[in-house]
Amino acid sequence: MSTAAAISSLCFALSKAAAVRPTVASVLPTPPQHSSPAPRLIRNFPVFAAPSTLTAAVEMEPVERLRSGFDYFKKEIYEKKLELFSQLAEGQSPKFMVFACADSRVCPSVVLNFQPGEAFTVRNIANMVPPYDQIKYAGVGAAIEYAVIQLKVENITVIGHSRCGGIKGLMSITDDSSTSTDFIEDWVKICTPARDKVKKEYASLPFADQCTKCEKEAVNVSLENLKTYPFVKEGLEKKTLKLIGGHYDFVKGNFETWEI
Ligand SMILES: [Zn+2]
Repeated sequence: MSTAAAISSLCFALSKAAAVRPTVASVLPTPPQHSSPAPRLIRNFPVFAAPSTLTAAVEMEPVERLRSGFDYFKKEIYEKKLELFSQLAEGQSPKFMVFACADSRVCPSVVLNFQPGEAFTVRNIANMVPPYDQIKYAGVGAAIEYAVIQLKVENITVIGHSRCGGIKGLMSITDDSSTSTDFIEDWVKICTPARDKVKKEYASLPFADQCTKCEKEAVNVSLENLKTYPFVKEGLEKKTLKLIGGHYDFVKGNFETWEI
């Protein structure tokens, strides 16, 4: 079975007890063999990573965890909203496009209670929107184009969050432009204008507070970058589209929004 077919069959097989339960080894492709040593850290300390000592109450084998998660969803949500899922089977017309961080603590469907079909979501490191660039950022561009032109979303929301490792990494990049990651630093540099502004205007603040400022300023940079996409610009001019900034603070349990 090909990997795609295996994953596809896994998705649908999760709804019922399979007679032959696939093992991890039979479902997942063989991981590539790396010759390099342990993952590199930024400047020898874990700038981006904030590992937790939290462990699951009951350790579960990963495929079992996926199965039980879907079983819960199927019983508690899917089967209780059959009409909704029947409508969604025909198509989607979400009102929101959402950019959120890939951070496992900030899922917008959980934090903002988005229901299936409500939010077309892109998650990446530090919830950044790069400027229009057909070569370098085609993945993000395709998502924005699809959301605005095909789905006709009415709002694009960029949501930053507290203690964002990507923003901390951006604020930690030195002025000598040296990098120690293959992708991360180059990606977060999208919001260098936010970093520069915070370093200049809030130089006296402790580093952690500067990071908080940057989490919000980076959202503003992303909102400005959205305007470089012609279809976004047109939507704003015709007032069929709104840009909304947001920040979720999971330390204080706050959520704030602003419009530009
Ligand atoms: Zn983050």
